[in-house]
Amino acid sequence: MTRACPRLRKLVFGIALTWCIGPVAAFSYERPNFQPGFNFFSRKQDVAVGRKAAAQMDRTLPLVRDPVVVRYVNGLGKYLAQYAPNQNGFKYDWTFQVVNSNQINAFALPGGYIFLNRGAIVAAQNEAQIAGVIAHEEGHVVMRHGTHQASEKLLADAPLEILAGYLGQSGSLLDTLAQMGIGFSVNSFFLKNSRDMEAQADQVGTYILYRSGYDPYAMVQFFQIIQKKYPQQTAQFFSDHPNPGNRIEAVGREVPELGPPRPWKTNSPAFEAVKQLLLAMPPPPKPGTGG
Ligand SMILES: [Zn+2]
Repeated sequence: MTRACPRLRKLVFGIALTWCIGPVAAFSYERPNFQPGFNFFSRKQDVAVGRKAAAQMDRTLPLVRDPVVVRYVNGLGKYLAQYAPNQNGFKYDWTFQVVNSNQINAFALPGGYIFLNRGAIVAAQNEAQIAGVIAHEEGHVVMRHGTHQASEKLLADAPLEILAGYLGQSGSLLDTLAQMGIGFSVNSFFLKNSRDMEAQADQVGTYILYRSGYDPYAMVQFFQIIQKKYPQQTAQFFSDHPNPGNRIEAVGREVPELGPPRPWKTNSPAFEAVKQLLLAMPPPPKPGTGG
């Protein structure tokens, strides 16, 4: 009697849109608030786009291949990832690489692909600080900031008719995005985080440190130290991870709510050994960038 009614589709889309926009406001600073923003992607698609972008990184960035270094960052990263919130039983493809660059930088691609610059490990004063950097990046992954931003861009750019047609059948979403020219270039929106996202990644990072037994103040201490001590080497990091402001105060408020103080872990012989290994390696190739 009736065929699929365009007005009905618009109505359904209107409801979906309202529902989608709601959670965006959830980046407020209430504890514990690990509510991700809206997302047109599934977690499986996070892994698919992240893996593709990571493969591109593997081809273009100089990587430290030393097995001791690679084993160490993967061991630490996977240990910390066990304590990351909002995974809902999903198995992210946690993979950690070290970029052979003296720039102090780190970034995460959707799905669990984390890149840590050699300069960041060398600048860390102890294991808890580098654990803090990794935990912060894991925060971007589990809060799904990369594909949330891609979803926002899609919402802004895609004609409503196309979007309405794809809600609920996201299998072809990636193809549609590609056709629309929304590419997954690693230098585009995947790496640029907003201040709200930074605040949330800090919050998750602190939470992971606390739960995993590391000094929960170490992440924010590291960010403060490097910003003051190495302004030139951190320009890219703070462009990709803009300082949300009052980091120390925010973490200072958060930690007591996580639980009582513990004998927190700060350092390990393994970290010191890896740091010495990196310091003894030949200097990185010339135009070393962290991306
Ligand atoms: Zn960040």
